Amino acid sequence: MKLYTTVSELQAEINNCRINGLSVGFVPTMGALHDGHLSLINRAGKENEIVVISIFVNPTQFNDQNDLQKYPRDLDSDLGKLSQLKCDYVFAPTVEEVYPVPDTRQFDFGNLESVMEGRFRPGHFNGVAQVVSRLFDIIKPDRAYFGMKDFQQLTVIKELVRQLKYPVEIIPCEIVRESDGLAMSSRNMLLSEDHRKAAPLINRTLLKVNELKKSNSVKELKEFVVAEVEKNPLLKVEYFEIVDDTRLLPVNSWNEPTEKIGCIAVYAGKTRLIDNIKFENN
Ligand code: AMP
Repeated sequence: MKLYTTVSELQAEINNCRINGLSVGFVPTMGALHDGHLSLINRAGKENEIVVISIFVNPTQFNDQNDLQKYPRDLDSDLGKLSQLKCDYVFAPTVEEVYPVPDTRQFDFGNLESVMEGRFRPGHFNGVAQVVSRLFDIIKPDRAYFGMKDFQQLTVIKELVRQLKYPVEIIPCEIVRESDGLAMSSRNMLLSEDHRKAAPLINRTLLKVNELKKSNSVKELKEFVVAEVEKNPLLKVEYFEIVDDTRLLPVNSWNEPTEKIGCIAVYAGKTRLIDNIKFENN
């Protein structure tokens, strides 16, 4: 495994691989790696000859400077975890290396960027698109791996690839959870002991929706989820939305012929957690 901090050195190495006809799988991350990230890297290792992972806390996707400052960073521990896996190149650049000049591009993802996360984190997906397109331009991967935990991000990335015609295959990966059901997240380490104990209620509640959907309207189910999670006073729901899984338009009736997903954001103290659940079509 080799660590690079500059674009030119990383590109020289990857160009060499490509000349030799090797396929390149890419996993973008913001570090503080956990088993969720590692599952993406393992999958990339099975499907590609070369695996590149980036560790970069991208300032342009943070609408809250306090959130950016307290975001966990631990490169040494990350490198220790990566050394146990098939991971060929780690790219851990500085902000100046990624953005030698400020990135002023404004993307238009329509509804995809204005609902849910986009509504509560204005500018977030524009920043995500900036960094992912910059990384795709540098690395030129054949395949890139994204977790379904950030479901809305995945739909935005697919749209980015469509708009800019990147020759990259986007591979969605299943959510990895702690044994109590809490979706793994770098932010979980910011939870106090009490908030950590409270947080699994989010997934436990989502696991009930497929059963409850049989006897409740969409509106009733949405109200149920918010009330159920907030039964614990340490949790505050920012939103729970039920949308179709491609355009993220609100679902009003179970009869609509779309694949449906329920997406939630919850504050546990000052830490913001997200999760989602697919609805079964029955
Ligand atoms: P992040 O470092 O939070 O930007 O995440 C990097 C990638 O890992 C994104 O594609 C995330 O969706 C994915 N990821 C984060 N947590 C999980 C998880 N618990 N299960 C699966 N993928 C995850």
